[in-house]
Amino acid sequence: MRKRSLLGYRFDELCAIVEKAGGKKYSAKQVWSWLYKKGITDIDLMSDLPLKLRNGMRSEFCILPVSIDSAAKSADGTEKLLIKLYDDNFVECVIIPEKERLTLCISSQAGCRFNCSFCATGKSGFKRDLEASEIVGQVIAASEFCGKRITNVVYMGMGEPFDNYDEVIKSADIISDDSGLAIGKRKITISTFGHIDGLKKYIAEDVRYKLAVSLHNPFDNERSRLMPGNRIYPLKELFQVLKEYARRSNRKVVFEYILMKGVNDSERHAEELKILLSTLPSKLNLIKYHGISEGGFTPLSDEFSLKFYRYFSKSDFPVVFRTSRGEDIAAACGQLSAAKITEKPL
Ligand code: SF4
Repeated sequence: MRKRSLLGYRFDELCAIVEKAGGKKYSAKQVWSWLYKKGITDIDLMSDLPLKLRNGMRSEFCILPVSIDSAAKSADGTEKLLIKLYDDNFVECVIIPEKERLTLCISSQAGCRFNCSFCATGKSGFKRDLEASEIVGQVIAASEFCGKRITNVVYMGMGEPFDNYDEVIKSADIISDDSGLAIGKRKITISTFGHIDGLKKYIAEDVRYKLAVSLHNPFDNERSRLMPGNRIYPLKELFQVLKEYARRSNRKVVFEYILMKGVNDSERHAEELKILLSTLPSKLNLIKYHGISEGGFTPLSDEFSLKFYRYFSKSDFPVVFRTSRGEDIAAACGQLSAAKITEKPL
């Protein structure tokens, strides 16, 4: 029988597990500290716990439910890890060092249902949702791999996080817990293409992680061709929900916009985008397009990217051009596909 992972439980749930395994309630604090402060991956190493409790937990639980199959390192220091799941599915996560920050881009699903035409994950189809323990496990495994503490987490890897809402929020609650990994709520970003059902839950539950929305086109018909999920969740409805989010949270909505030559880069697109984003407090992140092996588009030249950028910056609209990381190892935005990595077997 497959053992469940201790990484899949919030602290109150872990208390119940510890008690059921024959321990006192206060031992849950020790277990939590072993898992998230000391980062051990073997229950037997919890040396200050009674043997009876360790045996009780070990009979039903493991710690790390994922393993690193292989890794590749980019010339810019970015590292991509191919993560193996218990059922031989694979996902990827990406470690991005930047000054004093160490950001981890994690996956929430093996594959994705939404099939955006610029995205390698979408091309691979949908396999399954990840459990919270498999999402938290990426953070633990990546931190162990690089021997450093992860400071920021972005749910921008494989999968649509709000299509796996409960497990994603649970995993974010676990990694942000002050007495454990303690990655601050403001250092965790959940990125969605505009999954309205998930967004509504997020707003109703007053969840406080940062939110990013992948927009990529301001016209409904064009966006539907680029991102078929737009047919289910069209822009008008999406913006109504996002306005409600901005109103209730008092936060700006961060929009991601990948610039693709001849697809979404014209003056007409810039004008409409500005009109749309001006309807609510927002920021715009422009992103370079990264090629994928199947199909794909052409990146916009630096000259025209700058022109698009200036259209917003000249009127003081909050806009940044996000630099690419890890493109040479297919670890950049839209490139994750969980294909075998051959560069550096572990
Ligand atoms: S961009 Fe996001 S929602 Fe679209 S196919 Fe890729 S992972 Fe899925």
